[in-house]
Amino acid sequence: MEKIKPFYVLDVPVYPYTMDGAVNFLNSQIKNKKQTFVVTANAEIIMMCQKDAGYKKIVCGEADLVLADGAGTVWAGRKLGHNVPERVAGCDLFVELCKLAAKKDYKVFFFGAAPGIAEAARDKLLAVAPGLVVAGCRNGYFKEEENAEIIEEINNSGADMLFIALGAPKQENWLARFRAELKPNVLMGVGGSFDVLAGKMDRAPLWMQKASLEWLFRLYKQPSRIGRMMVLPQFVVKVLQSKK
Ligand code: UDP
Repeated sequence: MEKIKPFYVLDVPVYPYTMDGAVNFLNSQIKNKKQTFVVTANAEIIMMCQKDAGYKKIVCGEADLVLADGAGTVWAGRKLGHNVPERVAGCDLFVELCKLAAKKDYKVFFFGAAPGIAEAARDKLLAVAPGLVVAGCRNGYFKEEENAEIIEEINNSGADMLFIALGAPKQENWLARFRAELKPNVLMGVGGSFDVLAGKMDRAPLWMQKASLEWLFRLYKQPSRIGRMMVLPQFVVKVLQSKK
């Protein structure tokens, strides 16, 4: 399946897929055994790219599919005159891909978060994706010398999709570094999604998600995020300046 054309937000290519479009595209990539590195780019990630040249190279040059996560990215795309059909949030795409896996007999591997969290997320997912085969779970706290063993564990599991929850930019840096050695066809960073599914971290109520206020809810739940969130007004200013 041919990839659609991206639009650019502060030099970051964003592919304006709908949720269904993204799932169909990734399904065809798995069928064709084409490894696809997915980044769901919110405003924070796009701002990290402005400040970290190495990370920018990964998101802009090495990721195969960058999707519009977060109200900020959708707003920016539309403000810059592009047709952005909808937000494709990483956590939602992760759940949809698990449903696809259950339907098509693809295996998944969950790598990241604190001990026990990936397993708890798996148990919750089985309710919405019955029959899902989670070929392995591994927590995200490890030493440099454990990388080889982690890669082997992932490859030996026979997983078709690898979901990695180390937070940005760590998860993308890890995937970019090791993708050539990894066998799964879908490689995707999912940030705090395992925590959300495990019930360790609440997701904003639907009305807040629809009103583009999920960021406010996260700030209310984790006030320590304020430092990270200070980049959001800078993002707005930079996008408006790039429009001129
Ligand atoms: N994490 C991890 N290993 C690390 C650092 C973080 O497994 O060395 C996990 C952490 O436990 C959490 C996730 O990565 O589950 C990061 O979540 P956060 O909400 O910060 O990510 P975001 O969605 O904002 O990228």
